[in-house]
Amino acid sequence: MESHPKLKPVDAPTRGVYFAGCNEFPKDVKDTVTQASAASSRASILLNAGKVTIEAITSVIDHTYCTQCGICSTVCPYGAITKPDKKSGIFPEVIEAACAGCGTCASECPTDVIKMRHYDDDQIYAQIEAICAEKAHEKVLTFACNWCSYPGADLAGTNRSQYPAHARLIRTMCSGRVDEDFVLEAFRQGAGMVLVSGCHFSDCHYINAVQWTQKRVEKLWNRLEKLGIRPERLQLEWISAAQGSKFAKVMKDLDRMRKFVSLEEIEETQRILDEEMGKVSARKEKQRAGILKRREGGEVKEVPIG
Ligand code: SF4
Ligand code: SF4
Repeated sequence: MESHPKLKPVDAPTRGVYFAGCNEFPKDVKDTVTQASAASSRASILLNAGKVTIEAITSVIDHTYCTQCGICSTVCPYGAITKPDKKSGIFPEVIEAACAGCGTCASECPTDVIKMRHYDDDQIYAQIEAICAEKAHEKVLTFACNWCSYPGADLAGTNRSQYPAHARLIRTMCSGRVDEDFVLEAFRQGAGMVLVSGCHFSDCHYINAVQWTQKRVEKLWNRLEKLGIRPERLQLEWISAAQGSKFAKVMKDLDRMRKFVSLEEIEETQRILDEEMGKVSARKEKQRAGILKRREGGEVKEVPIG
């Protein structure tokens, strides 16, 4: 599929790759020739540039505790992470020129060893903490993607659409960046409701990263239910940049739901999550210690990273 049907009709989502002819879909000679001229002209811009500017927001892998599970390279919509190989001691590497900065790899990495430049975990946790510092139970903590939901909220403002003042937004480049732990931390800090919002499937700025968002949220709903926390308190919505009125409506609906979350329920959620997250960090610590021990024992051969 092309990067954008109107703005980049011959560009593939991976920068530097262009379409011409039937490799995209069946077309006649006239259309093929027109598209080939457009593609060659786009390619000549890149070839003549001399220097290519890449995204500043890219992922970085710290190999210290990487288990070489390969999840990151499987989920990356751009194939921007090389495949690790445990047997030969090869670690995954980010090809920075291909990374578009969606953050899906960082959210899916089970050992949290992937950092996103400019959108790292600490920055997001600091925002959650600030939002929940006062009257957290009244807040609808909303993760909004940079390309669709956040501009959708802007449009609601420009259109002067009214919605309750309890919404608090945290912008991420993609909804794929919303880690399970961010949502759990928001509830642990007392947020009444949490919304994860992103682009519609066909509009995802990062090819198919929203599909990973959906899978992750579905997993979280199950996890919340098992923990005894009402999954309805976590909502998922696709809101485009042109849907200001939808953003306002979603906020009104969520605020209505928030009113049914009592202080007792929030306290119980906090108690459950204090316990759960304590167990999770203990598990992670143990896993990290195990990784170091195995490496010291020479069971996993490390390859120096250039
Ligand atoms: S997902 Fe994380 S632990 Fe697994 S290979 Fe990638 S960086 Fe390593
Ligand atoms: S941030 Fe997105 S594009 Fe970049 S390596 Fe990770 S999954 Fe791939």
